[in-house]
Amino acid sequence: MESKQVTISGAGLVGSLLSIYLAQKGHRIRIFERRLDPRKTLIDGGRSINLALSDRGWKALEGVGLEGEIRKMAIPMYRRVMHAVDGSLSFQPYGKEGQAIYSVSRAGLNAKLMDLAEKTGKVNIIFDQRCLDVDLHAAEAVFENQSSGERNYVKADLLFGADGAFSMVRGAMQKTDRFNYSQHYIEHAYKELTIPPGEDGKHLIEKEALHIWPRGNYMLIALPNLDGSFTCTLFFPHEGKPSFESIDTTEKARDFFSKVFPDALALMPDFDVDWEQNPISSLVIIRCFPWTSNNKVALIGDASHAIVPFYGQGMNCGFEDCTVLNQLMEKYGDDWYTIFGEFEKERKPNADAIADLAMRNFIEMRDLTGDEDFLFRKKIEGWFSAKHPDKWLPLYSMVTFSHIPYSEALAEGVRQDRIMDEIMKMPDINTNWQSVAVEEKILSLL
Ligand SMILES: Cc1cc2nc3c(=O)[nH]c(=O)nc-3n(C[C@H](O)[C@H](O)[C@H](O)COP(=O)(O)OP(=O)(O)OC[C@H]3O[C@@H](n4cnc5c(N)ncnc54)[C@H](O)[C@@H]3O)c2cc1C
Repeated sequence: MESKQVTISGAGLVGSLLSIYLAQKGHRIRIFERRLDPRKTLIDGGRSINLALSDRGWKALEGVGLEGEIRKMAIPMYRRVMHAVDGSLSFQPYGKEGQAIYSVSRAGLNAKLMDLAEKTGKVNIIFDQRCLDVDLHAAEAVFENQSSGERNYVKADLLFGADGAFSMVRGAMQKTDRFNYSQHYIEHAYKELTIPPGEDGKHLIEKEALHIWPRGNYMLIALPNLDGSFTCTLFFPHEGKPSFESIDTTEKARDFFSKVFPDALALMPDFDVDWEQNPISSLVIIRCFPWTSNNKVALIGDASHAIVPFYGQGMNCGFEDCTVLNQLMEKYGDDWYTIFGEFEKERKPNADAIADLAMRNFIEMRDLTGDEDFLFRKKIEGWFSAKHPDKWLPLYSMVTFSHIPYSEALAEGVRQDRIMDEIMKMPDINTNWQSVAVEEKILSLL
């Protein structure tokens, strides 16, 4: 295989992983990253920010031999724990026994990927270099050193835009003919808060779980960290009542939390500081096409498909991009025309599907996980699926614990919803849900 000189804009999760896959194929890579080296600089004031890693992400890490090392710093979350206003708890397993999604530190994972990339000897990461523009015909990018203002003109055989939701590489593509692009801000934003460790570094609520405080139009969630703390995220409307706009002082926020999330507030001694210091961040969905240009430039990860975080799939989807690109490199060798063409053809419908699924899951998490009918439907689905695992894999499992393309999972989920609508209309379903009649009805509708 011919060794190519490759430029990657962005050393985030996807850009760093991509560089390792490219290095394994013998290419030489330079990554230009806007930030300073996060391994040497404290980012986010040292706050722990975590992500849920699931099967698609694990597979991509396995492909570069990093799975074992990341497992050591990952906390399994076997179930959702729902917190009602009165403090009572209910539970919903994520999958079959032993199946879990994993909480990992974003900064820790990024640092490991950067280390491994550099260890290949074929990847050079250059920090404090912001991409300003790209010549798409020449695969030449301009990077600026933020401190000195010095500009770097970098030409390569191939250029990847892994520079996130506000990608400058995509910005250059947006100026070309017949480039489709949409950017949609949802009405909710988020703010991070912390539940610190208890005495002896113990977790103060169930460690191996994802906690949700579903409250209809908004919710609070918490994921565990290795140091005994939880990173909590409040997903809340920008405007309306209640909203970030209406709750505009720390006193109001504390009062609101004491009424709506009292058990969580009781575990947040630093609530006031967190509320004041941590930003309100917007959530955006970005769709675009094509993802490649002139057989030389390609977008990957959030640069081509930024989604809302409610399925915990944004990074997993970006990592799956790397798995698919690797499979195509193996299949087509140096034929980058075919690799790029197949890559965008295969990934685009799946990125669109996970964008839709993620919005669906927001409604499920914030509203339905506190709804008895919904939990009852899930119970029937789980029962039927255990009896007929070859005929019914719940949607959550298809997305999280399988490698079924997202677009197929979405289509199957819609079909399952229609079937369950019929089942819920059956007389005496509340008492007879584990009956032969229900089983046969589902089988007949499949
Ligand atoms: C609140 C929240 C929670 C989330 N939770 C999950 C989760 O649980 N599970 C999950 O799978 N996903 C989750 N995600 C999504 C996940 O964070 C993203 O999908 C993932 O980070 C995308 O990786 P990326 O490398 O494509 O982009 P990014 O992580 O955004 O990395 C882009 C990199 O490019 C750099 N950069 C940007 N612009 C330039 C430029 N002009 N020049 C040079 N460098 C540049 C940035 O500094 C950054 O290092 C969550 C997202 C949010 C917002």
